[in-house]
Amino acid sequence: MSGQVPKGKQRASQAKIEDVAEFYQTIDRRNLIHKISPVRPYVYTTMEVYDQANGIRGAGGLGVLAADTRRVAEDLEIPFVTLTPFYQTERHQRLEKLEPHDDYVSRSPEAEGFRMIGQVVLHIKDKPDATLDIYQKQLGSSRFLCMTEPNFGPLYCDTPSSDHRLYQMTSLGFGGYAALKMADLKPAVIQLNETATVFAAVARLDELCSNGMNLYEAIVYVRKHTLYTNHTLVQAAESQFSYEQFDRFVFPNIKSPAVDHYIGGLFRDGYLQLSSLTIELAEAKNCVSKLHAKVADYHDLSGEKTHFSAITNGIHLQSWVKPELLDFYKHSGIIDRFNMPGAATADQIRRIFRTNLSRLRQLKQQGRAQLNSELAHRQDQYGAVVQIPEDAILLEYKRRFVEYKRPWMPFEDIEQLKGILVSYDAHYIMAGMIAGNVSANDSTYRKLASMLQRIADDPVLRRRVHYITDYDENLARAMSFGSDISVNVPVVGLEACGTSFMKDLANLALLVTTNDGGVADVAPPTTLLVSGDDYQEEVSSLYSRLRQAINICRHDDRWSDAVATTLAGYLTTICGARMMRDYLHYLFRSDD
Ligand SMILES: *Cc1c(COP(=O)(O)O)cnc(C)c1O
Repeated sequence: MSGQVPKGKQRASQAKIEDVAEFYQTIDRRNLIHKISPVRPYVYTTMEVYDQANGIRGAGGLGVLAADTRRVAEDLEIPFVTLTPFYQTERHQRLEKLEPHDDYVSRSPEAEGFRMIGQVVLHIKDKPDATLDIYQKQLGSSRFLCMTEPNFGPLYCDTPSSDHRLYQMTSLGFGGYAALKMADLKPAVIQLNETATVFAAVARLDELCSNGMNLYEAIVYVRKHTLYTNHTLVQAAESQFSYEQFDRFVFPNIKSPAVDHYIGGLFRDGYLQLSSLTIELAEAKNCVSKLHAKVADYHDLSGEKTHFSAITNGIHLQSWVKPELLDFYKHSGIIDRFNMPGAATADQIRRIFRTNLSRLRQLKQQGRAQLNSELAHRQDQYGAVVQIPEDAILLEYKRRFVEYKRPWMPFEDIEQLKGILVSYDAHYIMAGMIAGNVSANDSTYRKLASMLQRIADDPVLRRRVHYITDYDENLARAMSFGSDISVNVPVVGLEACGTSFMKDLANLALLVTTNDGGVADVAPPTTLLVSGDDYQEEVSSLYSRLRQAINICRHDDRWSDAVATTLAGYLTTICGARMMRDYLHYLFRSDD
């Protein structure tokens, strides 16, 4: 931030407090202030945070969501604690002869501005205790509380149901809960960002029971104060652990025999699925888009189908929208000062865009220049630096390379893709890492390598398709600023929400997308929809949508109307402040 005089700063922060009081009123929760306080904060537990500005690099959308949620809470002055591990080993990706490889980089919490506040001990059967260092970083009304030790390992190391993962999970849960006590904090609510964090709720249950509360009452209490946020569609895909693994890593950290016995009784055929345990301990449960809440098929241990509420993910606009563009939205009433949707209607937004067309085009040009400066210190698949011509149409794909997101779909008919790129003078930029550790037998790995080989073998694609390695937040932001058309083609029903599309439309890119995840929140979607009864039909729909999108981009009024309509349709969906309001409503209903 620029060097402001202290006086001005003081005035600015006073004005902000008034605003926040008003925000509480707008969400109809005047007594929220009594529910959440600095000593009774909103506690958010997550195995992954993606917040490079604070020195934490994640792996994907789950971490971006966690980071954005804390940023929104900080803006709105909500007392908020993010409990998460600090991974001292960070994964990066490099290509060698078009084959992906992992590189690991060391990180230290001190170097990233974290301060050590103490240590907690974790017990492991037949092994020496593990000592976790607890680090804190305060950011306005929010803070990070992190647990770490030198052998903690990287994020998502090993396999999902391995001993090492269970160790990381119990470190977060038991270690994190102990860290809260160390900092004299009592959670108003514990949000479990996926089931891997469930041991924080177990630790709370154990504390209540060891302090003399009976098990039944303690379960009721924990259930009332725990929220389970699910991002996984199929319960079978969740991690499960054997009784023997619990015996080594979990039970030694539980003091109350009643809790031991209770958890022991939840095993089926010697295994416990973390989702089953989480469903037991959380009354409030949500999925992260409307469609996801409808299709997620979960059952509790008695076989009853789990009901999930829908709270769609949003993004922290200030982190993801080009600042000049966000200012423009604010000045023209499209976004209000809480970063919630403003008063402007869709018709008004279209009119505002038409009147300011040259300004908006100019901002997109600036965005292209910003993308090129980010690309200047990055590498494409051949290890070279890419610069995208200022006046070329730019298509983009930037998401993890996993099967259901179908990154190779545009390459199904190479002649069609080439026709589009050449006849419209377009470029296609791609980025995204393979999930988990790279292994040469992995089918996604093979598919990425073979896609890159096909691109390399074709002189047209070689010139116009750029795969940028080591995808991260900064690249994501730059690509949103500088691209014209964003490709998002997950298999319908398999994307929990997705937030990349939100960043893109907020930066005035056109979306060529299947009707999935958060895209399907809006009916009918104000995007260019890719659809079809089978894969072949979807593929040809994709090519015709790409041509249509490029034609729109080339025509001023059509472009202005299309980006305005997309933005207007999704404004409520994408606002992170809206997401926070929905969580607060959901958790702290005014009737109690
Ligand atoms: C926004 C973002 C994501 C989210 O990806 P989705 O596929 O839309 O869920 C993942 N990784 C990074 C680096 C991001 O910036």
